Amino acid sequence: MTPRIPSSSREVVLARYPRGMPQVGDFDLVERPLRAPRTGEILVRNTYMSLDPVVRVRLTEGGGGYPSPITPGSTLDGWAIGHVMESSAVGFAAGDVVLQRFGWRDFAVLDTTTTNWGDPVVVPIDDVRTESRYLGPLGPSGLTSWAGLLRVAALAPGDVVFVSGAAGAVGSLVVQLAVARGHQVIGSAGSAAKVAYLTERLGAAAAFDYHDGPVVERLRDSAPTGIDVYFDNVGGEHLEAALDVMNPGGRVALCGQISQYNAMDGSQRGPSNLFLATVKGLTLRGFLARMFASDLATFQDEVAAMMANGAVTSAETVRHGLDAAPQALVDLLGGGNVGKMLVCLD
Ligand code: NDP
Repeated sequence: MTPRIPSSSREVVLARYPRGMPQVGDFDLVERPLRAPRTGEILVRNTYMSLDPVVRVRLTEGGGGYPSPITPGSTLDGWAIGHVMESSAVGFAAGDVVLQRFGWRDFAVLDTTTTNWGDPVVVPIDDVRTESRYLGPLGPSGLTSWAGLLRVAALAPGDVVFVSGAAGAVGSLVVQLAVARGHQVIGSAGSAAKVAYLTERLGAAAAFDYHDGPVVERLRDSAPTGIDVYFDNVGGEHLEAALDVMNPGGRVALCGQISQYNAMDGSQRGPSNLFLATVKGLTLRGFLARMFASDLATFQDEVAAMMANGAVTSAETVRHGLDAAPQALVDLLGGGNVGKMLVCLD
């Protein structure tokens, strides 16, 4: 039976700028009219949406330096997977599964005539390449892990690798990619259960809960010969500790700074020991996944093959229904996820 074309869509809208940790009351769920797709457009029903920490930065007045700030009254956006319900576009047919950036709503009418990062693309689905994994290890999160470790940090034989936020979407794939290449990997995360997950399930040589004392002491205990690569998901005290413990010539992939995202109003904490980068000849390089868009197919083929042979596993924390999305964001920022945090909209 052909699904009924909706005349409106529920959307999550920013009600007011959060102060510190967001609250559910900072968001509204509203119903907005939906028009039929015009030439070059498709109507999509979202099945999964991704929860991404950077949304918190975009919810800061001025946008925290990140492109496309979200202002009160506007609908949030972010990565999503959906099914094409109706197409007026070449290359898209009803039933196609598309990856795109119009999450935080049940339905969306999308332009297909441009090819910017995040514009809709049809993705193939099979036992390994499942819908939800296109938001995790086979999608933008996974590309972040792969490109950050291999291209930005330029992982080299023998490197000892430290990963913060190691039990999350990006971190858990970084750990597994490095372990699969034979590296000694140290992970940090926010609970004993996550620490056990890293050492017992993902193959990390050591892991610690960063709540259990100064990060620099925990890291020194875990990496007595120092570290050569630091994949930084957290910033703040973690970055400072990594600079302290890093061996000469070490590399830092500056992926994210989640410990600072609730303080983007100007009270962020930077590392006080940056001079060590000079003394030790370190390389610190920031990046966004979109800067490696041309590697997407290469990365997907590699990680899909690793998933098919069991070298990479993927954890998901899934909430249900659009009305659960604001709480899911709060929980993501508070560490309530293992692996990829998703909302299922089906
Ligand atoms: P995660 O799945 O890792 O979820 C976020 C995790 O951050 C939480 O589960 C929590 O885990 C941890 N966390 C929260 N607050 C703190 C804190 N104060 N100190 C230490 N850890 C904290 O999210 P993602 O994998 O999607 O993202 C990880 C990082 O990568 C983020 O910084 C994000 O912005 C960045 N990123 C960058 C991209 C890029 O293109 N450069 C693209 C995608 C993500 P715990 O229980 O361990 O505290």
